[in-house]
Amino acid sequence: MDFFPYTLRPYQRDIMDRITQSLQQRQPFIFESGTGSGKTVCTLAACLTYALANKKRIVYTTRTNAQQQQVIRELRTIRDHTKDARLIGVGLQGRANLCLLAHTDPEVEHATAEELSRFCSYQKKLTHTTKDKGCPYYRRLQEQTTAVEKLLTWTKHHIPTAEEFRTACADATLCPYEVNKLLIPDALLVIVPYVYIFDKTIRIKLFDWLSVAEDDVILVVDEAHNLPDYLRELYSAQLTTYMLTSCLAEIERYGDPTLADGRVPASRFCRCILDIITDLRDTYVYNLMEGEVRTSLEKTDAFIPSYEVETELLSRLTITSHTLNAITHDLIAYGEKIQEYRQKSGKLPRSYLHKLGLLLQFWTTIEMDQYIKLVVDAAQGKNPRIEAYCLDPSVGSEIFAEVHSSIHMSGTLEPLTEYRDSLGLPPTTPLANYPSPFPKENRKIFYSRDVTTRYEDLARDPSTLSRLWDHITSICNTFPKNTAVFFPSFNTMTTFRKNGGYPGMARHLYVEDQDMGQGALMNLVSSFRASGSSQGAALFSVMGGRISEGMDFPAEQLEIAVIVGIPYPKPSARQRGLQQYYEVKFGKGFEYTVHAPAARKLLQAIGRLIRNENDRGVAVILDKRAPRFHQFLPEMVESTNLLDDISDFMNAPHGQEHSKHPARSQKTKPTTPAAESMKKKRERTR
Ligand code: SF4
Repeated sequence: MDFFPYTLRPYQRDIMDRITQSLQQRQPFIFESGTGSGKTVCTLAACLTYALANKKRIVYTTRTNAQQQQVIRELRTIRDHTKDARLIGVGLQGRANLCLLAHTDPEVEHATAEELSRFCSYQKKLTHTTKDKGCPYYRRLQEQTTAVEKLLTWTKHHIPTAEEFRTACADATLCPYEVNKLLIPDALLVIVPYVYIFDKTIRIKLFDWLSVAEDDVILVVDEAHNLPDYLRELYSAQLTTYMLTSCLAEIERYGDPTLADGRVPASRFCRCILDIITDLRDTYVYNLMEGEVRTSLEKTDAFIPSYEVETELLSRLTITSHTLNAITHDLIAYGEKIQEYRQKSGKLPRSYLHKLGLLLQFWTTIEMDQYIKLVVDAAQGKNPRIEAYCLDPSVGSEIFAEVHSSIHMSGTLEPLTEYRDSLGLPPTTPLANYPSPFPKENRKIFYSRDVTTRYEDLARDPSTLSRLWDHITSICNTFPKNTAVFFPSFNTMTTFRKNGGYPGMARHLYVEDQDMGQGALMNLVSSFRASGSSQGAALFSVMGGRISEGMDFPAEQLEIAVIVGIPYPKPSARQRGLQQYYEVKFGKGFEYTVHAPAARKLLQAIGRLIRNENDRGVAVILDKRAPRFHQFLPEMVESTNLLDDISDFMNAPHGQEHSKHPARSQKTKPTTPAAESMKKKRERTR
């Protein structure tokens, strides 16, 4: 409790007690506690106390950089509260964010983590061996010890966010990545992206810098509901047509070696795999027999037999599996040569042939119990690919058995047993679900039975789409409040787009674009947030996306959330494979892989509304299947007149007690011309 810097809210003491108990008993702890309930500060207070008393270190892992900032802010508050100088925390990010040299070189700016690591090693080598080449930020780090000391002292004292730290390093012309490494040995708390823990190679480096054994680490997983999917992606691999085309371009540029003791030219090998991928796509996705033309566009992926790619390669190239192994090794070796050559010429150390070799090595050796192999028809048929998809996230979760203890938390983690089982955590792991500490009457959830995004229903009754759109526009146009509309996917969002716009939307509209960079997205969100204090605006986004899962909208920044449809996973071979795997392993295929992920996305999107005890907000689920989620949203009620029901909630006397804006808490009146017209329309209808 000494480290807890605020007045206690309901359940917070219990959260800290349970965490402490788990740390003492050296076992994991999994808990769900609603968004805005203060789980980060509770976890920090309990873990810091225990770590100091027992000489442990804390590694706190987050999915996004924005979540990392939140942890740093809470640590600062705890330090201000306790004045304890031992509370040193470091936010670590990859070179992609921290390498100052890469940001001055457009060639290197978009490199992968591995390429950046090679690039950096070479630059450091040049710095050591030459006087005027290499990395100036690294050179200064070697030469200007006083400047480095000054920066280290400042960082330990201020606990900056990664962005603030990077700016301070840039001002001092010192490499942020290297300075970070110097800070780590003194840090009690290190905050890292998931990849630092779940990629084994990077984790070994991190623990090396920390100079600790796994046993002395308390591992915290924040926003843990993301972890199973994250691990599945991390341990999956794919070979795309674009990548093979890049291999051929590389061969044209650097030469066409004959692989496996002169048996197969690299170009022939690459063309052969290209043909195999196209043939697999035609056979399994398009279901075409020789000479047939494709008629159905619905299916985009399909299972392929485990050894089909290898069998086809052996038969088309008339080689043995021994020769295929030799080809794989030669591709890796030749790729490494290309990487070195490019590096020496000041280029990015990238080789597609190297990647191809590594991928084939993985493809031919994976355990098929935990994987499925697929052919996927991506980019409207332009970039078909083969994919080894990891079904079992516990493939990458062995670290939990090695650390002192692990704390797993999220605002939406139910069913907790699914998370525990998916990650292979012990069945005895304590689980806890804490109700929201905020007044229940501050949030209202309605659903409408006259619409759905269910594919079969949309096909049967096309008027469903226009009813959906009517609901969306009437809600957005009627209430002068910030309103977020969350679609199940970008595809669904664009079905409502006509002639470059969204017809009938009278309110100022912000639209998240799928390819938007982080900077552009933050600008969009800031402008939307600012609209909350004036006439309000509408924001179109998606469930499961960067906005619905990672951003805070307190007070008037968001007062209405419209959920368009139920975000069930897209039916695909990959999804079927996953469901079947969970059915066989746990007997809960649908519950764990369809229902629970959809519930989490729904709850995350709705969770944007209430971030503290004074927030009020209303969510509307536009789908007749909403009652299936009653167990997660017990207060949800059906509405047959959404505008009236929303209006009643907004104008309820209770709302005045809890209003965030006493001056604006009086009767909510539609204020825009479109809103007036909607109001008249409703009155006429009545
Ligand atoms: Fe980039 Fe730092 Fe490496 Fe220089 S030393 S190349 S700035 S990561």
